[in-house]
Parts: sequence; structure tokens; C-alpha cells
Amino acid sequence: MKINRHFLELHDSYLFSTVGRKTAEYIAAHPGRKVIRLSIGDVTRPLAPAVIDAMHRAVDDMSKKETFKGYGPDRYCYGYDVLLDSIVHSYARKGISLEKSEIFISDGAKSDLGNILDLFAPENTVLVPDPVYPVYVDTNVMAGRKILFADATARNGFLPMPDFSVDADIIYLCSPNNPTGAAYTKEQLKEWVRYALKKDAVLLYDAAYEYFITDPALARSVFEIEGAKECAIEFCSYSKTAGFTGVRCGYTVVPQALIREGTSLNKLWARRQSTKFNGVSYITQMGAAAVFTEEGEKQIAENLGYYRENAAIIADCLDGIGIRYTGGKNSPYIWMECPGGMGSWEFFDYLLENANVVGTPGSGFGKNGEGFFRLTAFGTKEDTAEACCRIRDLLTK
Ligand code: PLP
Repeated sequence: MKINRHFLELHDSYLFSTVGRKTAEYIAAHPGRKVIRLSIGDVTRPLAPAVIDAMHRAVDDMSKKETFKGYGPDRYCYGYDVLLDSIVHSYARKGISLEKSEIFISDGAKSDLGNILDLFAPENTVLVPDPVYPVYVDTNVMAGRKILFADATARNGFLPMPDFSVDADIIYLCSPNNPTGAAYTKEQLKEWVRYALKKDAVLLYDAAYEYFITDPALARSVFEIEGAKECAIEFCSYSKTAGFTGVRCGYTVVPQALIREGTSLNKLWARRQSTKFNGVSYITQMGAAAVFTEEGEKQIAENLGYYRENAAIIADCLDGIGIRYTGGKNSPYIWMECPGGMGSWEFFDYLLENANVVGTPGSGFGKNGEGFFRLTAFGTKEDTAEACCRIRDLLTK
């Protein structure tokens, strides 16, 4: 037996474990100090009441033989009509028409972002923005694929644009981006669609944070761009939209029009999913279906508004100190330049020791993240405000 040696090429995933270890060590050495975490990429607001009610009703369904559910319906890879219809409807409001057969319900975006690679030959070249969500790189390292990086720097507003002299087959785009918070305009995305169509490539478009977009010039879905159905797959999640990080539900859109080498990628993905996946629980799907109801949307808007206010508090604080940053306006992430030319980990230690505030060092997201720092808006309002006071005091000293 031989192992997949590509796993040995992975860098240790030390970012969040080192953040956790350093924080725990600091707290142990300084008992009684209140350390505030603006590092978490996890939500803190509870589920919307409409979601909870729908899940309770679904539990009741499971308790009676007349309404009990086993495996999900085969027809749409285990997605229930009520959830698929609500997703079709939510896309229709963005002016995008989808068939239910183009939507695949998942247990979150992360699994599908990794699993989708089953569809692509190992010899494909992958293009990944740097910095970005580390899952794109690691899943391709595991598969032994050649990875090229598209630099996301202050010079391009952390939004790399296509270089037509570079040949890539699979391109990851994350908008709004984790960690930089930068989001593509529709005009910019048109260029990526043009590139993918010209190169016969596929865009893997991660829209996990689309619900944070308020600026109408920014794209909420890659399918707002003409031609995208011929070259893109979109990954969506209820995690940050509706607080489902612990519940687990998302959806992936693989258009029927996406054909490569005469083969429908929609059919390949349906085949892959029906072979290696047995669907998302009925209770979870019923909860998710409540998100896009009138009541559900109102309630999740309150939670999103809460995080947006946190982001505005952080942005105001950095504006006041004169520190440059991106994000925070159409994203829960604020990507700030480390002050005084400090390195990412140097600033992490400085902030922890002198303000008792924890963030995430940008260098953990790629080489271009060095010298940057990610703060998140997912904490409580009180903690965010207090952390910002401390940051202001420390950096204006
Ligand atoms: N995509 C991005 C860019 C993320 O930041 C995350 C989670 O932090 C995910 C996908 C994963 O989301 P899910 O909880 O749906 O697996």
C-alpha cells in the first residue's frame, strides 16, 4: 500500500492553531485580563426564529409515520423541492433564471469546494488568488495539481484581474474575499468570464459572503454576468448568511450549459454526488428553506445588520487612526495594513500583549498577506467597540 504522497507536501495548517495557542498561553500567564477575539471567522448570533420554527416542525414530521422522511428525494440529488424552489426564487430576484436540476444542496461550501475537484483531471493548471481562503490551495496540493497564484495586493485593490498570457484551466474567485474583504464589480467579473470562455477554463466562484454585499455595482452571483453559465460553478453557503456554521447547509450551482469535452459537468457532478454523498438532513433543509421566506429574510437581515455595524465600528476606528484597510463595507472582514511596517505575526503579538485583542495574521492566507492583519465583524457589539477603543488608544499613543 502506498499513501498519497501529495499530503506530505501540505504546509502545516498552523494559522488558527498558533493563534489559539498563543492566545491561550497569554491568558494563562495573565489571569484576570479580558482578551477580546476579533479573529474568529465564525458567527455568534443565534439562528433566526423562522429557521428554528421550521426545524421544530421538521422534527415533528420525523416523529409520525405519515410524515417521516428517510433518504432525501433522488430526483435532485436529495434536495427537497421546497428548498430548491426557495433558491430558484432567490436567484430570480437577482435576475438569474435557474432550473432546480442545476442546484445541489450540500452540507456547506467547504466540502463542495474540495469535492468538485473529482471532476477535473490532475494535469489541469489551477489559478488561485493570493491571499485567499486556504482550502483552495490545500485541496489542489492533495490532488498533486500545478498551482499558479494571482497576486492580490494593494496595487490592484486586492482584486487580481486575468492575465491573458497565462494559461489556467481552473480558476478560483472568492468575492467578497476572505480574508481581504475586497469584492469584484460586475464589470471586473465580465473580464474573468471572458478569460474563462477564451481559455475553455472553469471558474470556481465562492459566494459564501454574498449576503454582505449592499453596493449594487458589485456582483452577488457570477451568473449575473452574461456567458457565466458556460464557464462557472458557484458555491453558496447558509453559514455566514444565516448562522448555519453549526447546522451545516449550502448549495452549489452547476449550470446545464457548462459543457467541457462534450460532457455536461452538471451530469458528472450529479453522478459524483449520488455516488459519494447521501444528502443533507430533512430537518436542516427545512430550516434552510425558511431563510429565504419573507419572515426569514427580515430576521437574517437583522443579524447581518448587526455584523455590518460591527464592521463599521472597526472601519471608523481605523479611519480615525489613519490606517489603510479594505473590506468592512460589503464584507464581514477588515484587512488592515500592520502599522509601522510590522510583520503580521509581530503585530499579532504586539496587539495581544498591549491591547489584549486577537486578530488573524495575514501571512497565514498567502505570501501577499505578510504585513497585513484580518479583523472580523462576527463578535459581539460590546466586545468590538471595546477592542476598537483599545486599538485606538494603543496606536495613537
Ligand atoms: N468559503 C469561504 C471563503 C469561507 O471563508 C468559508 C468559511 O469560513 C467557507 C467557504 C466555508 O463555508 P461552509 O461553512 O459553508 O463550509
